[in-house]
Amino acid sequence: MKLQIDEKTCDRCGTCISVCPCDALLLRDTLTVSSNVCTGCGTCVDICPVQALSLG
Ligand code: SF4
Ligand code: SF4
Repeated sequence: MKLQIDEKTCDRCGTCISVCPCDALLLRDTLTVSSNVCTGCGTCVDICPVQALSLG
């Protein structure tokens, strides 16, 4: 499972970063995920208030 980020929907609140158990998410100009670090646990997907994340 690969984490998909909808950059247009993401408002850069940072909530997903604070819940990721693997520190796989990074917020600079946009939110990015280190695919080799992300385990696909789905915690960030569940917590995002604007449904900008999905697993596919
Ligand atoms: S929780 Fe959602 S809106 Fe907030 S930074 Fe993460 S992906 Fe973007
Ligand atoms: S799916 Fe899990 S490991 Fe991957 S970025 Fe989201 S919270 Fe982190």
